[in-house]
Amino acid sequence: MRFGAIEAGGTKFVCGIGNENGVIEERISIPTEMPEKTIPQVIEYFKDKQVAAIGIGSFGPIDIDKNSPTYGHVTTTPKPGWNGYDFLGALKSAFDVPFGWDTDVNAAAYGEAIWGAAKGLKSCVYYTVGTGIGVGVYSQGRLVHGLVHPEGGHVLLRRHPSDSFVGFCPYHNDCFEGLAAGPAIEKRWKVKGSELAKDHEAWELEAYYLGQSIANTILMLSPEKIVLGGGVMKQEQLFPLIRAEVRKNLNGYVSAPQLLDGLDDYIVSPGLGDNAGLAGSLALGVAAYRKEEV
Ligand code: ADP
Ligand code: ZN
Repeated sequence: MRFGAIEAGGTKFVCGIGNENGVIEERISIPTEMPEKTIPQVIEYFKDKQVAAIGIGSFGPIDIDKNSPTYGHVTTTPKPGWNGYDFLGALKSAFDVPFGWDTDVNAAAYGEAIWGAAKGLKSCVYYTVGTGIGVGVYSQGRLVHGLVHPEGGHVLLRRHPSDSFVGFCPYHNDCFEGLAAGPAIEKRWKVKGSELAKDHEAWELEAYYLGQSIANTILMLSPEKIVLGGGVMKQEQLFPLIRAEVRKNLNGYVSAPQLLDGLDDYIVSPGLGDNAGLAGSLALGVAAYRKEEV
């Protein structure tokens, strides 16, 4: 059986076709421009593909409340043309198939739980550290939704005493994302993160903030696995630094072997690699086809 997947990001849409086992057979990438330009290309791609369902993991914030009159819309994004856009509605009017619809980071968390690093576990938390920071929570076999969806990238953290960077979040300045997402690294050090040396002090600071957020997440949610993805996490030297910060913050208080000697297997990169978002969207489509609640 063939399923469609759409990983709708701020810079590009990745559309693909896969099967119910998470195998992605083909994909294309479409630049994210105004919806009137991007969405017809998405529809054109799926037109002859005969998919049984389509899963969408979208940049947000988005309305995922099935009872809301604006279910399926993009909500408060500053992205031109997308604020209030009926994204899901546009696709539904083109294809009469079941749709899965959630945030990009929730999709990635779900993909990791079904087919990736957290396969077989009942809980995991997925972080994406890229242009923004998103945190997707999978708990007791379901994605966590509530009033809207969690926005764990915007939590407030204790500042590093030597860090005087004002922050870049347009809503909160120095929230987690404002201090630690890719653009914050670039603004603080005046050079892109990918160009900083592996032993630059930027990474200690980055691990300081990630380690605080992850310790808070462990204390709040007690997930069985933490998966860290996104462009900034390509800096693999961050992993040991982050684990050390988490160990320091928890200080042996939570007694689980995973958090003591098992941190190397507890805080990990995506099992699905760069496919986490697209495979997660595919998994949402498969679940929608099976009428499974995610
Ligand atoms: P997006 O968040 O737009 O989906 P990414 O996850 O690739 O895309 O995040 C882009 C951000 O991550 C940019 O701020 C970029 O500077 C940063 N980034 C991308 N690759 C790296 C890298 N190898 N090292 C450090 N930062 C990176
Ligand atoms: Zn913020």
